[in-house]
Amino acid sequence: MPIRYYSTNRNLTDTAGIIPFTGAVSFKDALLAGQAPDEGLFVPDAIPQLSLNDIHALKGKPYREAALLVAQAFLADEFPREVLRKVVYDAYNYPVPLEEVYPQAFLMRLDQGPTASFKDFAARMMARLMSHCRPQGERLNILVATSGDTGSAVGEAFRGVAGIDVTILYPTAEVSLRQRKQLDSIGGNVQALSIDGKFDDCQNLVKQAFSDPQLTKFNLTSANSINFGRILPQSIYYVYAYAQLAAPGEEIVFSVPSGNFGNALGCEYARRMGLPVAKLLMPTNENDEFPNYLRTGKYTKVAPSRDCISNAMNVGHPSNLARFFELYGGTVDRSGVVHRYPDIAEMRQHIFSVSIADEETRQTIKNIYELYKTVLEQHGAVGWAGLTAYRKMTADKNLAVSLETAHPAKFPEEIEKLLGFSPELPASMKDIDQRQGDAVTMSSNYENFKNYLQINLKIKE
Ligand SMILES: *Cc1c(COP(=O)(O)O)cnc(C)c1O
Repeated sequence: MPIRYYSTNRNLTDTAGIIPFTGAVSFKDALLAGQAPDEGLFVPDAIPQLSLNDIHALKGKPYREAALLVAQAFLADEFPREVLRKVVYDAYNYPVPLEEVYPQAFLMRLDQGPTASFKDFAARMMARLMSHCRPQGERLNILVATSGDTGSAVGEAFRGVAGIDVTILYPTAEVSLRQRKQLDSIGGNVQALSIDGKFDDCQNLVKQAFSDPQLTKFNLTSANSINFGRILPQSIYYVYAYAQLAAPGEEIVFSVPSGNFGNALGCEYARRMGLPVAKLLMPTNENDEFPNYLRTGKYTKVAPSRDCISNAMNVGHPSNLARFFELYGGTVDRSGVVHRYPDIAEMRQHIFSVSIADEETRQTIKNIYELYKTVLEQHGAVGWAGLTAYRKMTADKNLAVSLETAHPAKFPEEIEKLLGFSPELPASMKDIDQRQGDAVTMSSNYENFKNYLQINLKIKE
């Protein structure tokens, strides 16, 4: 049976304005559509199983072999093996370091791609898959809301891809200077819009555009973490890390600094594919809606979202929460209303979450540097602080891997203040301070934005 993708909103008969989409589509259709017609998120109706033998056989092999194993399991019905091989070999041409910080506690650096954040992993694979399934002779317009790193990763991944244009929306005041340079300077088929608002405003503009019938002719599609094509690649590095580090029979803990929950969702799927994950840790910054929910059983979004130094995680209602709730038997809509609560006991069994205040994030950056000479930036530090908190509370001694989701050199101001030096730029970013860009600035008003799209987007190839 091929895997089909249905909408997280399919049961919502009681919400004004939403007509539930009760059908199911192929991966290719889900990839091109981005979100379901009822504004729900596409989720697979079955999860393929990986064998432990196949996983352990990846030990010592390059990352792309892990990618091929996972891609094959999910996509073999829709893409020939040779296409998948080419996609992952092209996409994953950079290292994925696993550093031992202290015995049995590792840092996985997902910051070696072209834009030095983990978002490169998903964007590069998705761009290559999309260019295989684009309708002949037509142009695709990708709209992406970013709190910093998604936009540049997606922009870079699609730069120069024929027939696909990318429009990136970012909140003017919430991205760092270097993030802005990266976003504004991609050029060619990639245009940045600097929005006077918050990340949530950018995300809402994009979501509204997708459901606007007057914009259908532009073949709008998303590359946000709402696209399932972004989630699948994010399950690969968990399989890879486990294969490199774990002995047969061993279980592993992952700590994933979380904002929109797309990265953590990759781990959730990896566990459901058969990876022996003892616990998924999902530390957040001061946007604590999820840890509060796990503690109290009641979900209340944080609105407006709180500004923290881990700016890529300033999310008051994570878009992928709908998929987490779905996996555990619940339903939440995009405005944050819970229609059915998930099985919280089961969720607590597999997931741990804690809110890390900025002060603790800063302290973690200092401590880890002083103790181990390991340099973390503020997102990875939330991850590490989450692991430390979990170990204190539970005395869990399992093998653990915490994710560093961006390169410290992307946040030189913060690191300089805390550690007294500015981290060396990775090769991909050496020229960043010299780049020139031209973002279009606009308010967060939908009619303005729509007008801009109608004037500037192209329809035919
Ligand atoms: C996007 C991002 C996150 C949050 O990831 P989600 O998948 O949205 O939870 C964490 N760290 C960095 C550096 C990011 O860019």
